Amino acid sequence: MSSRQSKPFKACIKCKALVSPEETKCPVCGSTEFTFEWSGMVIVMNVEKSRVAKFLGIEKPGRYALKVGY
Ligand SMILES: [Zn+2]
Repeated sequence: MSSRQSKPFKACIKCKALVSPEETKCPVCGSTEFTFEWSGMVIVMNVEKSRVAKFLGIEKPGRYALKVGY
């Protein structure tokens, strides 16, 4: 089974940000390591008010994966 499947985003391994597959550098943390092995999507609009953001350690608004890796 291919790990690439048909996911519209890849996840940054470091900060879990979800970016388009064409992106080469994470816009949040600058990492160049990505994976298609992620699950669950959370969209953080307001970092200060979001419990999920706090839980995941998210510091910038954006689209993130809940789980990255296998
Ligand atoms: Zn990142």
